[in-house]
Amino acid sequence: MLYGAIEAGGTKMVCAIGDENGKIYEQISIPTVTPDETMPKIIEYFKDKDIKAIGIACFGPIDLDKNSETYGFITSTPKTAWKNFDIVGCVKNALGIPVGFDTDVNGSLLGEITWGCAKGLTDAVYLTIGTGIGGGVMTNGKLLHGMLHPELGHIIIAKSQKDKGECVCPYHDSCLEGLAAGPSIEKRWGSKAKDLADRQEVWDLEAEYIGTALVNFCMTLSPQKIILGGGVMHQMQLFPLIRKVFKEKMAGYINTKTLENLDEYIVPASLHDDQGIMGAVKLAIDACN
Ligand code: ADP
Ligand code: ZN
Repeated sequence: MLYGAIEAGGTKMVCAIGDENGKIYEQISIPTVTPDETMPKIIEYFKDKDIKAIGIACFGPIDLDKNSETYGFITSTPKTAWKNFDIVGCVKNALGIPVGFDTDVNGSLLGEITWGCAKGLTDAVYLTIGTGIGGGVMTNGKLLHGMLHPELGHIIIAKSQKDKGECVCPYHDSCLEGLAAGPSIEKRWGSKAKDLADRQEVWDLEAEYIGTALVNFCMTLSPQKIILGGGVMHQMQLFPLIRKVFKEKMAGYINTKTLENLDEYIVPASLHDDQGIMGAVKLAIDACN
């Protein structure tokens, strides 16, 4: 059985065909321009494929409340052409098959839970650190939506006294995304993050922010594992630094067996940057049930 998958991002829409084992047979990338220009290309791609359902893991904010009139819409996004766009309705009307829908980060988490490093777990957090910071959460075996969906990148954390830079979030004076996403690193240090690989102070500060945030997520959500993905986390030297900050700031308060081995608790994404599109396949599979 084949399923369609869309990983809808602010710069590109990755469209793929996969199966019930998460195997991806083919994929293409379509630039995210406007709905009028982009959606017909997506529909054209899927039109003649023999797919049973389609899953969309989407940038947001989005409306995930099935009882809402605007369920399946991209809502208050800063990408103005996509504001209040009914992406689920558009795909459903054109293809006439079930459509699964969730946030991009819940999609990545679902990929890891189904086929990756968090296989079989019921409680986990997936955090992406790239152009922005976003997080997907599963609790008690269900992807967390709540009132809207979590926005883990915008938790308020204190700016470090060592930080000569500034929080670049247009909404908050001192939030995780504004202090630790790629654009904030670039503004603070004056170079692309990947060109700063050998600057220890860059990654010490970055680890302090991420490690602090992970303690907060551990305290509030009690995940069995925390997975870190996104462009910035390609700097693998961050992992031991983050674990060290996590241990220090946790200060022994939680003493579970799981936290004894932080190398297995705070881990990189495991599906070679396919976690999002594979998660979208699982959203499609689940849309049939
Ligand atoms: P997006 O968040 O736009 O989907 P990415 O996850 O690739 O895309 O994140 C892009 C951000 O990550 C940019 O700010 C970029 O500078 C940073 N980045 C990309 N690759 C690396 C790398 N190898 N090392 C450090 N930072 C990186
Ligand atoms: Zn913010």
